[in-house]
Amino acid sequence: MPKEQDKNRWDCGAGWHDILDRLTADIKAVITAITPRVKVDKVFKILQVKEKFGCLRYYYYLDLNEAHRNKIYALVRAAEKESSQTCETCGKPGKVHNDLSWVKTLCDVHRTELDIKYIIE
Ligand SMILES: [Zn+2]
Repeated sequence: MPKEQDKNRWDCGAGWHDILDRLTADIKAVITAITPRVKVDKVFKILQVKEKFGCLRYYYYLDLNEAHRNKIYALVRAAEKESSQTCETCGKPGKVHNDLSWVKTLCDVHRTELDIKYIIE
């Protein structure tokens, strides 16, 4: 599980937290397998997590050689792709909506809720 200090850098909806939990655990497992004698915190740090154009953006510091870095890149790319198919609000299957004044990935329920909210306001 990520530390609380990691989660404080997560600037996105709770629907993506499961993806981030898995991604961070997977990255730490790969690093531990590659460099069992080095503390993970010494070579890997999450700098920022945010939503951009309906997709997760995961920014991190990584001090590994190129061959090993590519394994981490692949994990991050897969998680970012998964986020573009996952509702940022609830974590259910969703899709990117760009018919709003901004771009968001949402399930049908949360997309409809946005419409209702705008009618009321
Ligand atoms: Zn949803």
